[in-house]
This record gives sequence, C-alpha cells and structure tokens, in this order.
Amino acid sequence: MVTAIHRPTWMSVNLDAATHNLQEIKKWTKADKVYAVLKADGYGLGAVQLAKAFQETAAADAFVVSNLDEALELRRAGLILPIWVLGAWDYSDLTLFVQNNIVITVPSLDWLMHLPALAGTLKISLAIDTGMTRIGFDDADQIAQAKKIIETNPRLELFSVYTHFATSDDASAHSKKYFDQQAVRWQQLVVNQGFDPKLFSMANSATSIWHNTDPRISFAAIRPGQLISGVNVSNGDLPMPQKLFLERVFAVYSQLADVRFVKKGQALSYGATETMPEDGYVATMPFGYNDGWLRRMQGSSVIIEGKRMPILGRITMDQTMVKLDKKYPIGTRATLIGKDGKEQITAEEVAHYSHTIVDEIQTTLAPRIKRIYTGDLAEIIGANNG
Ligand SMILES: *Cc1c(COP(=O)(O)O)cnc(C)c1O
Repeated sequence: MVTAIHRPTWMSVNLDAATHNLQEIKKWTKADKVYAVLKADGYGLGAVQLAKAFQETAAADAFVVSNLDEALELRRAGLILPIWVLGAWDYSDLTLFVQNNIVITVPSLDWLMHLPALAGTLKISLAIDTGMTRIGFDDADQIAQAKKIIETNPRLELFSVYTHFATSDDASAHSKKYFDQQAVRWQQLVVNQGFDPKLFSMANSATSIWHNTDPRISFAAIRPGQLISGVNVSNGDLPMPQKLFLERVFAVYSQLADVRFVKKGQALSYGATETMPEDGYVATMPFGYNDGWLRRMQGSSVIIEGKRMPILGRITMDQTMVKLDKKYPIGTRATLIGKDGKEQITAEEVAHYSHTIVDEIQTTLAPRIKRIYTGDLAEIIGANNG
C-alpha cells in the first residue's frame, strides 16, 4: 500500500485539537489517568502522530491499541509510555510483549493457568465480561483464582482490571437497563475482590461523556478513542453536553481534476444510473471507494466554494463526479468532510448518510489518503517530516 502523496486528495489532522479533546474529557470525568485508544491507526487519524502529541503534552498516560503490530509501530516510533493491546492473544508472541514492555490482555482463567514460563516481566490487563460477551472473566470465583495466580507469579504485573459497556452511547430504555445491569455485574464480580481501585478502567468515550457522574463507574483510568476526534459518538442519539468543549480534529479534501460541459440527458458513470438533469458542468475528483468513499455515498454532496454540489452517478474506484452550478477552474478545492464558508459536512452526517457509525467512516478512510498535520504540536513533534 502506498500513500498517494502526489494526488490532491488529503486529510488534515489538527493535533492541538485532538490533544485539547483528550484534556477536556479528563476534566469532564475527573479521571486520574487517560489511556488514549489509538487502535485502527488512531481511528484513521494516524496513531504515531497522535501518540507523539499526547506524550509530548502528557495528555495521555498510556496508549491502547488492537494488536501487537500496532503496539510495535508505536515503540519503533520511539514512544515510551505504556502500551496496552486489547483482545485475546495466544502465547506465540509473549516474548515480544515482554521485551517491548507491552501490556497483554488476559481473556480467561484458562489462558492464565496455561501461561508458559516467562523470561521477564509481563504486564497484564484483566478483562471482566459484564455483558459484552466478547472476552473476559464472568465468574467471581475465577477472578479470585486469577488474582492469586497473579500475586504468586513475580513475573506478572497487573496493569488494569477493566470492563467495556455495550450500550453507553444509546438513549433507549433497553440500553439504559443493559448499562445498569453491567454496572451491577461489575459490583458483583470485582468490587469486593481486593484489587487496587487505581487499576480500574471502565469508561470508553460514551461512558466518559454520558455517565461521568455515575458513582458505580470508576474513572481511575478512562479509555477514550473515538471521542479524540471531537465527534458525537452516539450518532446523534444523545446530545453532546453543552459544557464539554470538544473541537473538530480532521477534514478531508480533494480538488477538481477535470471540468467538462455535459448536455442534459447524458448518463454518467458505471451502470449509467443517473443522467444530467440539465445542460451544465461536471467535475471529476480523484477519490473513490478505494479511499473509503464507498459506493453508498452516491447522491451525497461535497462543498465547493461554500456551496454544496451533488455527487452524480456511481462512485468509481478512484474517481467521483460532481455536478457543478457553474464552471470552476481545475484545482478548485472540494471539501468531503469539513467546513467551507457557511457550509459544513460532518463525519456524523456522512455516517448518517451511509447508515453507519462515525467510527466506521473514519477507519475506512484509506491509508493511501495522505495525512497532513496541523497545529503547533505538528511543528513541535515534526509530524509532517516522515
Ligand atoms: C475500542 C475500545 C475502546 C474505545 O472505545 P471508544 O468508544 O472509541 O471510546 C475502549 N475499550 C475497549 C475495550 C475497546 O475495545
């Protein structure tokens, strides 16, 4: 996979805004520690650059990623904060975890009981399954056994005891009830086991935003991910609190690569699914579904000189056509996500149009789109130098 550095389709990422958002959520939750979740290349924004900005400003106390390779990428980039890998892992790469000071997740008692002998200290996070039914302990006796094993093995160091909520981003009665059940389950499973409460980690973005005053939730170490982008992580289901001041972090732009006159009735693109409604100008832009601008975005719009213009015809792999209101010069900027004049297309709007969540929109934006970093922190850490 190469990044198309010569192609005028790009994403701008403001590292100051991302850092601000992390600091803001720390204040909002009164968290002691912030573990910045940077899986999926930092939700498409660039994990290394975000991590450097967060380490530089001490906005994060650790990084959380989804696999060992993401963790190693951060270590190779010189990041020194703890890095925690989520998910269940077999034993084959334990040495890499130990050697690189990377925290591994313990998914079950079985995993812990069959752990091979270690050549150094292994940091571990104990997953508690309170209702996600994905990984983790769901039995109090087994948690007690795990605690004994950890305490008697000098090579094991407990990094966190954590759980993950399934419905903290949703306002429905069913979701609230399920959240309550998970909170109760946590009390039953964990609270009387004698763990150091400083190790508890319970809040992702939505739990941090909308459950920040719930006394059953520990904010000792929060794990926000999607919120770093400053978007509404409930997809509009819950309003963002007015006093939580988040900033927009990224925008996606392209340029008009070709502009041509097209007669009324002329069909455009594969399938000839749409025709020109009137005589006028059509521009072709250098992005398509291989950039993550999926075919379901047909009929949505981009902003050109402060005005919305409709995408016409099917989105192709690398090129997309837009109907113009007049002739514009080649090289004119088109905004796919972001603000231009009075118009704004948010990631939330794109998600809504695509019948999905912002996380999917962001993580689908392809690595071949070049990322350009802005803000003072981009200068300080040399984000655009590599
Ligand atoms: C992805 C993930 C997070 C971060 O979730 P957001 O909703 O993006 O804040 C936190 N914890 C776990 C276990 C996760 O899988």
